[in-house]
Amino acid sequence: MTAILLDGKAVASTIRSEIADETSKFKADHGVVPKLAAVLVGEDPASQVYVRNKQRACEAAGIDSELHRLPGDLAETQLLKLVSDLNHDASVHGILVQLPLPSTISTEKVLQAVNPTKDVDAFHPENVGRMVQGKPRFLPCTPQGIQQLLIRQQIETAGRRVVVIGRSDIVGKPIACMLGNRGVGGDATVTICHSKTLELNTITRQAEILIVAIGRPKFVTAEMVQQGAVVIDVGIHRSDEGLVGDVDFASVAPLAGAITPVPGGVGPLTVAMLLKNTLRAAQLSLPA
Ligand code: NAP
Repeated sequence: MTAILLDGKAVASTIRSEIADETSKFKADHGVVPKLAAVLVGEDPASQVYVRNKQRACEAAGIDSELHRLPGDLAETQLLKLVSDLNHDASVHGILVQLPLPSTISTEKVLQAVNPTKDVDAFHPENVGRMVQGKPRFLPCTPQGIQQLLIRQQIETAGRRVVVIGRSDIVGKPIACMLGNRGVGGDATVTICHSKTLELNTITRQAEILIVAIGRPKFVTAEMVQQGAVVIDVGIHRSDEGLVGDVDFASVAPLAGAITPVPGGVGPLTVAMLLKNTLRAAQLSLPA
């Protein structure tokens, strides 16, 4: 068996063109231009690339964006003041604080300071709570991208055994929650694994859908995967052979039923979902 390649780039491109159409209609109907404010603290090269890609994607979809670049030695109070100013700026609909922040700043404090109605990353506890209850305002971008990929590739989740490796607040926990919630792209039976999980291979081999967000290059190998499983690789690592994921693609692809590549899998969908959330924030900002 050779796995079907789940082309996240192509799916993201379709979603981005849908968002561009919807944005253009929204602007014509309401005279409002959706706007994202991105906040970048410090000089982390990967973060700079991510923010640039997000801004370019906004531009292509007809969404305005502004970048606030701040020095790495910034005081936490100054960052909180900027977030507060953006919360009160009616022309800004979405606020994105690029992570990681310098260790001198409390990420939790900053993310909690973002107005939940502008929280397009969906990291604020209010939005996390709404997601858990199955009444989301925004869904977090990477998990939402994975769910959209499954839905649009017609991969059934209802009643299927899903294993998620990783329990981060950004990927593992929310994707596990979303796939277990009721509704389209949900209703799965989900197991979450982490660094304290015993007999990891035995559990992952039971997965019909295996989602890997562990942050270790090529960690998942063929002996961890059931024949015919759908494998979603969230990991991104720079290596001598270019970008690689958390899954050892060469050994897993021959036995998987379907698999995401790295690059070109989950990454492009994350950006597309940020656009979707920014447009939604603008839609929600209209008077009722
Ligand atoms: P993270 O915060 O570092 O979390 C990693 C998780 O993996 C933790 O829950 C950890 O368990 C678990 N883990 C570590 N070693 C393990 C082991 N030996 N066995 C089982 N579980 C283990 O990572 P993250 O933020 O979720 O990111 C994961 C990967 O996805 C990274 O490569 C990141 O760069 C990538 N990523 C990609 C996108 C995208 O758009 N494509 C977006 C976000 C992240 P403990 O909780 O017990 O420590």
